Amino acid sequence: MHVWKFGGTSVGKPERMRSIRTLITEDNTRKIVVLSALSGSTNNLLAIGESLKANNDAEANAQIDSLKAHYDSFVDELYGTPEGKAAGQQIIDSEFSFIRSLTGIKPFTLKQEKELVAEGELLSTQIFQAYLAEEGVPSTLLPALEFMRIDADNEPEIQFTEEALATMLPQHEGKQIIVTQGFICRNPRGEVDNLKRGGSDYTASLIGGAIRADEIQIWTDIDGMHNNDPRIVKNTFPVRELTFDEAAELAYFGAKILHPSTITPARMFGVPVRLKNTMDPAAPGTLIADRTSDQVFKAIAAKDGITALYIHSTRMLNAYGFLRRIFEIFEKYKTPVDMLATSEVSVSVTIDNTERINEISEELSAFCTLEEPDYDQTIICIVGNFSADNEGVALRVFNALKNIPIRMVSYGGTESNLSLLVHSRYKAEALNALNEGLFSL
Ligand code: ADP
Ligand code: ASP
Ligand code: MG
Repeated sequence: MHVWKFGGTSVGKPERMRSIRTLITEDNTRKIVVLSALSGSTNNLLAIGESLKANNDAEANAQIDSLKAHYDSFVDELYGTPEGKAAGQQIIDSEFSFIRSLTGIKPFTLKQEKELVAEGELLSTQIFQAYLAEEGVPSTLLPALEFMRIDADNEPEIQFTEEALATMLPQHEGKQIIVTQGFICRNPRGEVDNLKRGGSDYTASLIGGAIRADEIQIWTDIDGMHNNDPRIVKNTFPVRELTFDEAAELAYFGAKILHPSTITPARMFGVPVRLKNTMDPAAPGTLIADRTSDQVFKAIAAKDGITALYIHSTRMLNAYGFLRRIFEIFEKYKTPVDMLATSEVSVSVTIDNTERINEISEELSAFCTLEEPDYDQTIICIVGNFSADNEGVALRVFNALKNIPIRMVSYGGTESNLSLLVHSRYKAEALNALNEGLFSL
C-alpha cells in the first residue's frame, strides 16, 4: 500500500484536483491519499481567527464571505453534473455554517482557533472525495481526527495511529483510494489540534510508518528536493537521491518542501519517501531511502529565528558533569538545542524556541556566566558525504564564505552534516556564495 500526499497548490484549483484524480487512479496500487487545504485557505482561516480574537466580528464576517465565495466557485467549476454540484455545495454550506457559528463564541480561544484552522483540510478532503464519487472512482473518506493524536508534549502518538488504522482499514477493503486529512489531529484533551504549519507531510509519513507502507509520496509544486533554497538562490537543481539522515537534516534545518519532522517516522520503519511534482509528474523527483550516492556536497538548507547563548564557566568546564548540568536545564524547559560548540572555558548553544529563555538563563546563572544572547541568527546546514577520508570539505565551505562573518561551526556530529551560524542579514549572500562555491562546475 502507498501513501500519497498532495499539498496546497496541488489541490488549489479545480483543474489540479482533476489531474490528481488521474494520477492516483493511473496505477493499481491501493493508496491512502492525504490532502492539505486548498492553497491560501489555512492563511485565510488564521486571518479570520485573528479578527475574532480582536473582537472584530464585522471584519471576520467579511473574510468568511469572501472565503466562502471562493469555495462556491471552486465546486461550481469542479463538478460536471447537477448532482455533483449539489453534493459539493452541501459540503460547503455545512462547513461554513460551522465556521460562522464560531463567531458567536466569546472569548475566541486557542481551542476555537484550532477548530477553525482544521476546516481547510476538512473542506478539501470532502470536496475531493465527492468528486471521486461523481467520477465513479471507488473511494472512502477516513477521518484523521479518529486516528491521529498528539500527546501532552505535542508529539504524535504513532502507536495509537497504528492500532486505530489496523481496526479502521479492514472495514474498507474494497476501496482502492482512501482519502484523509493532513495536518489535523486530536490532543490529549480530545480537542481538535494540528501538527503545525506544513504538517500534512508529517501526517503522510506517520501514516506510512504506522501501516508499514511500501512507499510514501509527497506531491508538491517542484521537482523534488533542490540542492539549495529555490526561493533565494538562482540555478538550484533537484537532488535525485538522499538518505533518510540527509533528508531529515535538510527538512529540520529549513528546506520548506518538507515539514521538519517528516522523515522521522519513515526512517523509523524504513519506508522510502519519494518527492514528486504534481505539475510535471513525469519528472523523476527525489527518492529518500537507505542508499546514498558518493557525491561530496548534496544540498544546503537554512533555518531562521535562531538564538545563540554563550555560557562561560570559570571553574567547572573540565569537571565531569558540567555539560550534563547545562543540558538538564534545557531538558527541564523542553527546549531543544540545535547547535553546540565548546572551548576550554565556555559552551555556545543555539535554540529556536525562546519561550523559556528567562527561566533557562536564570538557572544557568547559578553556576555559569552568561553573555548577552545573539538573536536573529540563521543556521546554514550543508549536507553531503563528509566521511573523515574526504579531505578539503571544510576548506571549500570556508573558502566560499570568505567574505561572510561566521558565528559558530558544527562539523563531525555526523558524516553527513556541516552547520554554520550566521546573522540572518547574511543568509541570502551566504546561500548564494555556497551555491557558487560548492555546486558550480
Ligand atoms: P506544499 O503546499 O505542496 O506542501 P510547500 O510550499 O510547503 O508545498 O513546499 C514546496 C516549496 O518549498 C517549493 O515551492 C519551494 O519554493 C520551497 N522550497 C524551499 N526549499 C526547497 C528545497 N531545498 N527544495 C525544493 N523546494 C524547496
Ligand atoms: N494546510 C496546512 C498549512 O498550510 C498544512 C499543510 O499544508 O501541510 O500549514
Ligand atoms: Mg508544505
